[in-house]
Amino acid sequence: MTVRVGINGYGTIGKRVACAVKAQDDMEIVGVTKTRPSYEARLAEMEKFPLYTASEDQISSFEKEGIATKGSLKDLLKEADIIVDCTPGGVGEHYRKMYEEAGVKAIFQGGEDHGLAGISFNAYANYSEAWGADFARVVSCNTTGLVRTLFPIDHAYGIESVAATIVRRGADPADIKGSALNAIEPSLKLPTHHGPDVQTIMPWLNITTMVVKVPTTLMHVHCITINLKKQAKEQDILGVWDSAPRVRFVNGKYGIKNTAQIMEYAKDLDRRRGDFMEIAVWQDGIKVRGNTLFYYQAVHQESDVVPENIDCIRSMMRLESDGMKSIQKTNSSLGISK
Ligand code: NAD
Repeated sequence: MTVRVGINGYGTIGKRVACAVKAQDDMEIVGVTKTRPSYEARLAEMEKFPLYTASEDQISSFEKEGIATKGSLKDLLKEADIIVDCTPGGVGEHYRKMYEEAGVKAIFQGGEDHGLAGISFNAYANYSEAWGADFARVVSCNTTGLVRTLFPIDHAYGIESVAATIVRRGADPADIKGSALNAIEPSLKLPTHHGPDVQTIMPWLNITTMVVKVPTTLMHVHCITINLKKQAKEQDILGVWDSAPRVRFVNGKYGIKNTAQIMEYAKDLDRRRGDFMEIAVWQDGIKVRGNTLFYYQAVHQESDVVPENIDCIRSMMRLESDGMKSIQKTNSSLGISK
């Protein structure tokens, strides 16, 4: 069975998920939507993705620019088994009813609230929770990053509590508005929503988070302190992450001391768009004192959620019952080593 996937919102996340779907042999893209005849609409044409507008009244603006569409989202819903909704945060909720009425499953992104789908998803932590579901939400880039390293540590050693500080990129690289150019801005409402968001997947976890926004576009950095239930050495912790999927070590000793160098590494690895879908953990930036573990990790905000969307499709469409098999299939198709 080849699952027919539609993308609503062919932007930063949408275009990446579409390309990732194209790389799979058990699913295909049957259409993507754009609101305006922008360069991304032309890119969708180049990728041979059938192009739809979000609403009917937008079709004429595409015609004026000589860009052919196959109709609007309403028409795409007749072709798709599942929609990956990649519209801006808060917009997806307006589409839920439309998907439901069309009998089409949907995946929302981290900008939507957990309650919209009722299931928040991370492939390693709760693949089976989305099995056959009509709606699910792939959690945000930061939550994905936190769950990727916390879940395996909790499994191996038990976590008493976590305190994480997220140093957040001010905007995505192509954005023309975002954070202040020359300022560091703390989130004053504490603790921030990221802890409760991790709890949508790991409800038992005692976690609090703080955030500062900084004027960079290259990744988020997390500074994480964990109180462990069982004692462990640094090498034990690294061993756990070494066998966890989508966690990749970087090393200051070998010249990767910052996020710009991780992004350069991604280009050197020939990753499409220079994406780095794994969570980068500094192998030489980890310390254990007593039962307290300290470490740093970096999150490529534009791409870490992409493989999660692919696995979420497999679980919701009942394509593969073994989550690890789905993860491995997705990884090998996208050039992720583990
Ligand atoms: P984006 O602005 O880059 O892309 C959104 C796309 O949706 C654009 O193509 C836009 O034209 C289109 N769109 C706007 N309004 C629409 C509407 N009413 N109907 C249909 N399409 C519409 O946004 P993004 O960064 O890709 O974010 C999408 C979702 O992914 C959000 O929930 C966001 O929180 C989440 N997310 C973003 C990032 C990130 O860093 N960019 C990381 C993880 C998750």
